[in-house]
Amino acid sequence: KAGVEGARSKKKGSKASHDAKSGEHAREALALFRKQMRISVAGDEVPAPAGSFEEMWFPKEAGWIRAGIEAAGWTEPTPIQMQAVPVMTQGRDVLACAPTGSGKTGAFVIPLFAVLRGPKKAGIRGLIISPTRELATQIFQQCQTLRAHSKMECKLLTKASAAAVADVQSSMGKKHDVLVSTPARVVTLLKERALDLSTVEVCVIDEADKLFEDGFVHQIDEVLAGCTHPRLQKALFSATIPPQVSSVVLDVLLLIVCIHCLCAVLLYFLSPPSAVPTFLSLETQQTDVHETHRCPRI
Ligand code: ADP
Ligand code: MG
Repeated sequence: KAGVEGARSKKKGSKASHDAKSGEHAREALALFRKQMRISVAGDEVPAPAGSFEEMWFPKEAGWIRAGIEAAGWTEPTPIQMQAVPVMTQGRDVLACAPTGSGKTGAFVIPLFAVLRGPKKAGIRGLIISPTRELATQIFQQCQTLRAHSKMECKLLTKASAAAVADVQSSMGKKHDVLVSTPARVVTLLKERALDLSTVEVCVIDEADKLFEDGFVHQIDEVLAGCTHPRLQKALFSATIPPQVSSVVLDVLLLIVCIHCLCAVLLYFLSPPSAVPTFLSLETQQTDVHETHRCPRI
């Protein structure tokens, strides 16, 4: 009997070492892929980047996103999309940094749609904040392309549409799923009590570096104060990570995923504040941080 047991445990032992080996191989392959894509990550249990759109997991109800990606004419995800989509789709908070033109809009719109799954007519569940009306308009247009095969309602909040949004909120109620706006417009409507953000489940702050300059911080605070959903998922996307962003980030993000690029993407998931790299630490307020960590163009 002892022999059988012995053989069994030996077998188990060899299986365990085989598993350990293949685990190691998988980790090495993952590290190599990230290196090739110039993606760097840090944090707890960072999901693997998706090498293709086919590899990206979406909830069944959000299968329409694939048709949206096709409608956009995109065949391969960019590095920021490869890494940020799985992260956000898992419901993680993210601080993402990638150069201008690297496809950041898709990197947050795709997972935002995946998290929201489809139209619900249950109030604004996705909020995208952008510093200027022009950028907000571009994001809105990308949303419209990517949602082409669903009834997901996206709305660009402008001076002209503000009244309509407010009206829709109060009368017909709950028509829009996703709202794209500058912070100022949102704050104006919040002050007029014409906008209810308590249903927002995902809030994306794009061009976070610009948004944390010149008094925008106050507006962002007000916007986030209006987002009272207990499980608010937050994402900050930026071409650079200046120190002002990092200090607010620590207040705002639960599990920070910082995607930064040493050419393409560097992604940090930080749960305990002790894991905050020096350039993100609250104490690090020197102005050269901005320069040091500027993302070069690919
Ligand atoms: P960023 O916000 O990082 O500056 P954008 O999101 O504005 O970049 O994207 C820049 C351009 O790249 C846009 O024209 C966009 O349509 C295009 N783009 C984004 N993702 C892809 C992709 N996966 N394949 C091809 N083109 C893409
Ligand atoms: Mg952009």
